[in-house]
Amino acid sequence: LFGQVEPFAGDPILSLNDSFKADPRSEKVNLSIGVYTDENGRIPVLGAVKAGHERVGFAGRPYLPMEGHAIYREGVQKLVFGAGHPAVADRRVATIQTLGGTGAVGIAADFLAKHTPGRTVLVSDPTWENHHGLFQRAGFETATYPYWDSASRSVDFDGMIKALEAAENGSIVVLQPVCHNPTGVDLDERQQDAVTDVLIAKRHIVVFDMAYQGFGNGLDEDAAFVRRYAERASCLVANSFSKNFSLYGERCGGLSVVCRDADEAERVLGQLKLAVRRSYSSPPMTGGLLVATVLGNDDLRAQWAGEVGTMRTRMDAMRKRLADEIRALSNEVDVGFLLNQRGMFSYTGLSEAQVRAMRERDGVYLVGSGRMCVAGLNEANVPKVAKSFVEAAQA
Ligand code: PMP
Repeated sequence: LFGQVEPFAGDPILSLNDSFKADPRSEKVNLSIGVYTDENGRIPVLGAVKAGHERVGFAGRPYLPMEGHAIYREGVQKLVFGAGHPAVADRRVATIQTLGGTGAVGIAADFLAKHTPGRTVLVSDPTWENHHGLFQRAGFETATYPYWDSASRSVDFDGMIKALEAAENGSIVVLQPVCHNPTGVDLDERQQDAVTDVLIAKRHIVVFDMAYQGFGNGLDEDAAFVRRYAERASCLVANSFSKNFSLYGERCGGLSVVCRDADEAERVLGQLKLAVRRSYSSPPMTGGLLVATVLGNDDLRAQWAGEVGTMRTRMDAMRKRLADEIRALSNEVDVGFLLNQRGMFSYTGLSEAQVRAMRERDGVYLVGSGRMCVAGLNEANVPKVAKSFVEAAQA
């Protein structure tokens, strides 16, 4: 019956993670998968989440509504847009609880496929690979706009602007507003405003995918692009709690659609609920309650914000430590990129062959594209990574 079924090539990053687990070397270092680990190499349980878990306890488990937990959704709006944002105050934002950031982008794609079909979807080159896959699954064709300039190891801003200007009016444009995966390079404020002008002039439909809020400069700072954009135009915003709550397996995220007025938002919310109903019916209760309890209580919210700050500060410190260690070994390797890039990832500029050499010789795992997850660095492994990096870069 299923003899014609083709094998799944596997997800390159998840497969690499499997190879890492199977690697018998005790000194191996995993800098491939996008997971934050603490100084001891463990995925942390945040204190605020633990306290939230104790408050929640375990009671009955009815279905949540299709759109998710009400306090969770309110928490998403405050976190993404800020408490006093005019779109929130005007009740112009339709927000649902989603299955992580992936679920948010997936429902956004389904919603757009139904209500604004036939448009081209533009994603950054490079991007989180699933952007292509999720929009293609929904029936769209995807294309790219330039983003990474390998010569300067920064954003190819002119190329990006030109591509957005050249695209057909009303295209769908996926933007990562902060801590860009996989490059680690973001638009600065001036560039964000210039891009916003083009997007609005071209009437493009913007889908912000914010998977790392709080890992760049701060919870509010990281959302500034989205907030300013949403003051000027309608847009969709996917957000993930996987990283900033360290709740990867609970599948917590949100999708918010900023609309023209409250009536439109009500109708959009209805269509988002329908998309959810047709896909998985309703989101999970346990993760929903955890996030709602943290975001809905001032004490836990403040504790959580502090813990996000701790994760961010540690990643910044590790970037600096790695840069220092590399500099101590060689003056010839440019480490400026480590300090200029933000968030969990750095595009190192290493080639696939260099990445392979680090993996095979030293058990240091980066993604083949040269992406390094700096959140996997710690005091114990930094010297080894620096040595491996310098040897690979100079080979
Ligand atoms: N978007 C981007 C840009 C990401 O990097 C990720 C996580 N790797 C996601 C979405 C998906 O987030 P989640 O794990 O919450 O589904």
